[in-house]
Amino acid sequence: MKRLIVANWKMNPPNKKTAKKIFDSAQKNACGLKNIEVVVCPPFVYLGVLSLSASGGFRAKSHSAFGAQDVFWDEKKTSYTGEISATMLKNLGVKYVIIGHSERREHLGEDNLIINKKVKYALSAGLKVVFCVGEKERDDDGQYLNFIKTEMLEGLFSVPAKLANNLIVAYEPIWAIGKSGKNADSPEKVFEISIYIKRILADIFGRPRGDQIPILYGGSVDIENTEGFLSEGRISGLLIGHKSLETESFKEILKIANNIRK
Ligand code: PEP
Repeated sequence: MKRLIVANWKMNPPNKKTAKKIFDSAQKNACGLKNIEVVVCPPFVYLGVLSLSASGGFRAKSHSAFGAQDVFWDEKKTSYTGEISATMLKNLGVKYVIIGHSERREHLGEDNLIINKKVKYALSAGLKVVFCVGEKERDDDGQYLNFIKTEMLEGLFSVPAKLANNLIVAYEPIWAIGKSGKNADSPEKVFEISIYIKRILADIFGRPRGDQIPILYGGSVDIENTEGFLSEGRISGLLIGHKSLETESFKEILKIANNIRK
C-alpha cells in the first residue's frame, strides 16, 4: 500500500494567491512519486479554485487527492447556515475529509457524539475519512490509553463494517501538535500505540478488516523525523500541519516518504 501523506493547512494561508502557490508546489513535488499518495486539505474557501486549476493536472499526473478539513453530518435538509455537505465536496472532486481533529474538539465543542455522526455520514456518502484521536497528556498510569479507546469506541460507534475500508485513523497526541520536531512523539511509542489502536479496530470491525485500516501519525512532523515514523514507527502515513505550508520542507518530506523501504 502507498503511504498516505495528508497536508492539513488549517486556517492558512490568508489569501488565494498564496494558496495557489503552496498548492502548485505540492502538486509539482508530488508528481512522479509512486510510493506515496498526497492529500492536500486546504480551507473550504480555496477548494473550489484549487480543484478547478488542478483538473487534468493534480489528480491525473500525481498520486494525489483533495481533502476537506471538516464536513457537516446531514444533508436530508439544507437549513444549516455555514455548513458544507459531503455532496458539495464530492462534486468538487474532494475524496478525503478530516474528522475529529483536536482543534475542532477543543475550540468548536465537537464531542465524540458529533464526531460519530460526521464519520457515519461522510463514510456513507463515499468520502474517505481521516478520523483523528489522541490524548491531551501522557500519564505514567496509562490513563491516556483509555482516553484514546473511548474516543475510538464512541467516535466509531455503529459504523457499518462494510464502510471501514474508507476509514483511516490518525493518531495525533495533542501535546505534540504545532511544535518543533523535537517535541514530536518517538517512533517506538507511535509503533506501540498503533498496535493498541489496531487491536481496538479489530474488536470493532473484526479481522482482517480492522487490521487493514491505515494508521497515520501527526504532531510536529518535519524533515528530520519523517523517516523514523515511517520506518521504525511502521505507520501507514503522516498527517502534517505547519510543515505542509512550508514548500521546501514539504518537498523534502514527500521525497523522504517516497524513498522509505517497505
Ligand atoms: C495537525 O494539526 O494535524 C498537525 C499534525 O499539526 P502540526 O504538524 O503542525 O503539528
